[in-house]
Amino acid sequence: MNVIDIATKIQTEGDAWRYMEELRWPNGPVCPHCECTDATFIEPTNGVSRKTRTGADTERRVWRCCHCRKQFTVLVGTVFQGTKIAIRKWVLVIFEMCASKNGVAAREIERKYGLCPKTAWFMLHRIREAMKSDPIVVKMSNTTIAADETYIGGAEKNKHAWKRDPSNFGRHSSTKTPVFTLIDAATGEARSAVVPNVSGATLRREILKNVDPSGSVLGTDKWGGYIGVGQEFAKHIRVDHDRGQYVIDGAGTNLCENFFGQLKRSIDGTHHRVSAEHLPRYLAEFDYRYSTRKMSDGDRMELLMAATGGRRLTYKRITG
Ligand SMILES: [Zn+2]
Repeated sequence: MNVIDIATKIQTEGDAWRYMEELRWPNGPVCPHCECTDATFIEPTNGVSRKTRTGADTERRVWRCCHCRKQFTVLVGTVFQGTKIAIRKWVLVIFEMCASKNGVAAREIERKYGLCPKTAWFMLHRIREAMKSDPIVVKMSNTTIAADETYIGGAEKNKHAWKRDPSNFGRHSSTKTPVFTLIDAATGEARSAVVPNVSGATLRREILKNVDPSGSVLGTDKWGGYIGVGQEFAKHIRVDHDRGQYVIDGAGTNLCENFFGQLKRSIDGTHHRVSAEHLPRYLAEFDYRYSTRKMSDGDRMELLMAATGGRRLTYKRITG
């Protein structure tokens, strides 16, 4: 599916609502209040649109639950709940985000879709929110894990003179944000997090939150912070970059290094800079695109739209 197919599919706002319903409710509407599957559609007065309280026309499709009698739309409980932006715009922006390798800039969406800057920025962050996976739901298990850390942020020497602290030249720990990434070599799933530091305790906590170590192999570099948690794994392989090692017996850090390369190219090239506060959501976006990289752009978009409810994504289901 490409942008032409999508534009053909959602010619009207009503089409976009029906498309959203198809994806979120493949077996018919589900009441978000009581999970009952028996609901009746409330026909708009003129067959197409209804008046809102302010007198504007809207094509939102409203259902009434036969059990709890409450009204709902397909957007209740999703990141789009309460939006005033046309669903057609949402679908197209989601597609752009899913189809672009380096992400899309808010400024670009603002111009292309005639939105105000703040709206475009919030839309992109809401979509990133939907891309988050929940590590508690499914742990990586019986697999080979690549783990590595990197630093995101401008170098001290590139800062404005008045912001520059010469004592930080050549160091990154105090001025950049540490990011930690785990990649499951079998499923290709990536999970990244902003971490306060790269101490053994922090790395252990992040790894054990996401991985069941007993039947898995851990691949890392020589950094001493991994030694402790490595002992909890069935096997710990440490590659030595100084000796030109990147992979030993199929384990190592090269998956993470490719991932970081792409992440940094995107932050430098598309977003120019990302504040530490918003970095977790950019990481969610990168994890999502990386983990679904073998899917088509259309499938990647439909999967995301189907999962925008309270329901979280599980990559085992996608890749398995
Ligand atoms: Zn109900």
